[in-house]
Order: sequence, then C-alpha cells, then structure tokens
Amino acid sequence: MSKNVVVIGAGIIGLSTALRIVEEYDNVSIVIIADTFLNQTTSYGSGGLWEPYQIAGTPDEKINQWGKKAFEHFLSIYHSADCAKAGVQLLQAYQLLKANENVPVPSWSDIVFNFQELDNNDLKKMNLSDKFCKGYTFGTLIIEQKSYLQYVTDILLATNKVKFIQKKLERLDDIPSVLASNHANFNSIDAIVNCTGLGAYSLLNDNSMYPIRGQVIRVKAPWMNSVYFFGTSYIIPNVDSVVLGGTAQKGDWNTTTSLEDTQKILNDIYDVFPSLTQAKIETIWAGLRPGRTPLRLDSEHVTINNKPIKVVHCYGHGGSGITLGYGCANEIVVDHLAAIFKSNNSRNKILSKL
Ligand SMILES: Cc1cc2nc3c(=O)[nH]c(=O)nc-3n(C[C@H](O)[C@H](O)[C@H](O)COP(=O)(O)OP(=O)(O)OC[C@H]3O[C@@H](n4cnc5c(N)ncnc54)[C@H](O)[C@@H]3O)c2cc1C
Repeated sequence: MSKNVVVIGAGIIGLSTALRIVEEYDNVSIVIIADTFLNQTTSYGSGGLWEPYQIAGTPDEKINQWGKKAFEHFLSIYHSADCAKAGVQLLQAYQLLKANENVPVPSWSDIVFNFQELDNNDLKKMNLSDKFCKGYTFGTLIIEQKSYLQYVTDILLATNKVKFIQKKLERLDDIPSVLASNHANFNSIDAIVNCTGLGAYSLLNDNSMYPIRGQVIRVKAPWMNSVYFFGTSYIIPNVDSVVLGGTAQKGDWNTTTSLEDTQKILNDIYDVFPSLTQAKIETIWAGLRPGRTPLRLDSEHVTINNKPIKVVHCYGHGGSGITLGYGCANEIVVDHLAAIFKSNNSRNKILSKL
C-alpha cells in the first residue's frame, strides 16, 4: 500500500527531504505545500557554499554527520553527467587571518579536501602578506542554488509521485482544507514534515527562531574562481556569477537592501582584491537566514481534525542549509519516517544507516 507524506516548504530543506523520500521508497506520494518556490526562497539567494556557518548551539557531532552526508551527495553529482545541470563546482577556499585573529581548526576539516594551515610564507607567495599572516585552505563544493533547486524540482516532477501546492499555512490545522481544495484527502496522509525555515516562527509560534540577515552582491567576474573569507567578507564564485558578502545581522527582519551594507561589502573586498572593482554588479539581495539555537530536527504526534499524525520538524539551519540539508533529510527518512514505511516497502534501506 502506498504511503502519503505532506512536506511543508520548498527551500533546500523541503526539496532535499522530498528527494530523499523518493530515493528511499517506491510506494510513496508526496504533496509539497509552500508559500514560495525557487527564486522566492531564501535558499535560492544563498551563496551555495559547503561550509558550516552561523549554526550556533547545534553540536559539532551532528553538524559533521549531516554535513558529511550532504558533501558526499554533492560530490557524487559533481562526478556525474548531472554536474552542470545541478550547478555543482569544486573549488579551493582560503580563510585569511590577521595576526590578532585566531580561528581554531574546524571540526569538519576532515570532510573537505586537503585541509591545510597557511603561514606567513604561504601568504607571501599569494601576494597577500601585507594584509594577512596566516589562515587555512581546503577544497570544497559550491552548489549554485539557481540550478540546484530547479534540478531537484525536475527530478521530483519526473517521478510523478510529487505534487506542488502553492499556499501559505497559518497553522498546521489548515492542511486538511488545503488538501481538500486540491482534490486530496487528509485522512490518507501518514506523516507531515515541516521544513518551513524562518516561517516556523509564525507557523508554530516558535519564538526561539530569529532572523540572521545577510546581504550579498552578485557580480560578473569569471576570472575569480577561488573562495575567500576575511574579516566579515566573503567571495563565493558560483557558475554564472560571483557572490560578494556579507553581513550576519542577528534579529534584523529587514529584507530590503541597504546602501551602507553594499558600500561596506564592496570597499572591504576591493581593498584586498582590486580586480573586482572592474566586475559588473548584477544583483544586490538581502535574505534572512533561519536562526535557531540549536537547529530543530525532531518529531512529535499531533492531532489535526481528530486524526493523530506524526509531524517531523526540520528547520533553523542558519547559514548552513545547503551544507546540512541533504544530511538532515537523510536522518528524517532513516530515523523518523522508517517506521511508517517499514511494513510494506520492498526497497526499505534501513541498512543504509549502518
Ligand atoms: C546571504 C545568505 C547567504 C547564504 N549562503 C549560504 C551558503 O553559502 N551555504 C549554506 O549552506 N547556507 C547559506 N545560507 C543559508 C541558507 O540559505 C539557509 O540555511 C537555507 O536557505 C534554509 O533553507 P530552508 O529550506 O529552511 O528555508 P527557505 O529557503 O526559506 O524555504 C522555506 C520554505 O518554507 C515555506 N514556508 C515557510 N512558512 C510557510 C508557511 N507558513 N506556509 C507554507 N509555506 C511556508 C517557504 O515558502 C519556503 O518554500 C545563506 C543565507 C543567506 C541569507
């Protein structure tokens, strides 16, 4: 018998969840209910870099477990014919530090490639020793969300098992009426997965959610093909543009762009990489990272329309939704939904947990 799952949210977390469900189970139908899709989501505007960032309070062990799974997933796409379609790149990243800055070796240094510390001699060779004296470097993956969200959407549509409904839910209790007005029956739903990002603040009245505002500028600079971080600045090449950032303004709900932020981002970056003064500015965008200390991934049983139902919550990924999303989706499938599918699915791969 087929199982039916509602996923709320169509950002990286909702789409990754739907993808992992159809990868794992044959007999499934999924309804994705979301207020916004593709270029209207926060995920679409992100830099697309694999690197844990702004994810306070979530244990390193979980970050590394989810991050590794996602890294392996993107790496397998990188080594497949789908790489260009999905917008995946493998680039060298450099964290540049001044004498008074100390950043410990990150706990995820074994997940990325060839993690190495940089000393003053390395910085001299890079012609950057007048500004920085140490740092570290590693190879990592960048997944341009413009391409990747569409790529996953196309995979989901091609299965004929996934239906998309555009609707903002005020409460989880709205789900039965939204399904009914789209010719679907809530009584046949076996589980709900809530991937609403910052939307969980109002959907669930989760006051532990907070925005971490980020502003970025996309420029045309095809010569820039390494990732750099220094101070509050970052440079993340995507396939079609280079992302210049950034800000991380905790508690700021403003999604309009600020001239002051733009000037600071550009001045700081031009100071280190004057070549970028010649890069044409394409877009300026501000988005809100879904902050939560820690990220929420758990499940509960709730009653909706007198029907008890399992709801899995997965939101609050801060600046790491692309980095962790596929790994979280894997945990949802393996740990939270397996019991629902266990009874009747020939492809149940609980062993993949081992
Ligand atoms: C400037 C910037 C740069 C970033 N760079 C990176 C990076 O390089 N690497 C990285 O890993 N992360 C990065 N991030 C963070 C990343 O973008 C987020 O962690 C990620 O987008 C969160 O994904 P999500 O699916 O939870 O949220 P979203 O993309 O916001 O999607 C939420 C979905 O839920 C839907 N929804 C919400 N509430 C409701 C409701 N009530 N009813 C119906 N639907 C609802 C929305 O419509 C949407 O479809 C960046 C963020 C910003 C702002």
